[in-house]
Amino acid sequence: TSDYRVAVFGAGGVGKSSITQRFVKGTFNDNYVPTIEDTYRQVISCNQKNVCTLQITDTTGSHQFPAMQRLSMSKGNAFILIYSITSMQSLEELGPIILMLKEVKQSAIGEVPIMLVGNKKDEDSKREVSTAIGQKISGQWGTGFIETSAKNNENITELFQMLLAREKKRQLAL
Ligand code: GDP
Ligand code: MG
Repeated sequence: TSDYRVAVFGAGGVGKSSITQRFVKGTFNDNYVPTIEDTYRQVISCNQKNVCTLQITDTTGSHQFPAMQRLSMSKGNAFILIYSITSMQSLEELGPIILMLKEVKQSAIGEVPIMLVGNKKDEDSKREVSTAIGQKISGQWGTGFIETSAKNNENITELFQMLLAREKKRQLAL
């Protein structure tokens, strides 16, 4: 089986670990405090008859050194960029990440599956980033877009389905 590597990026506290845990284990913790970068593996279907290993790396966000970020980017086949809808700053912090991705992937960037994710959609009373803004930014960046709630398990499976559907070189499915 071959590996398909997905790296998850975003500022501290946006829900990178919560989304990964929700998808991989089906659980949610109100005070999940992960300290190290972790990689999770799931078997998925690949080109109909075969299987691939979906390898998801939950990066430590701002604690990751730029050289480490670059390495995660060069190894990654697909990327999930997460902000929290309750923090405009967390969306702004993805700007340098997408720039670095474009620099690392260069001319191949157009074929790289990337999803922009607005997490914590359950916290609507604290919303700072409208759905329209998220959609507009994703259009400018050429990425897919979805709003999720790891807490309420909303759009988590859909997020991964949409990401895999953007891969044109292989036919990937959960
Ligand atoms: P990370 O630093 O990006 O890995 O963020 P975490 O996954 O550790 O989440 C940070 C905090 O936000 C934790 O207290 C989570 O319980 C909370 N959190 C994560 N996802 C959601 C969500 O969808 N809704 C709400 N309300 N809280 C969330
Ligand atoms: Mg984390």
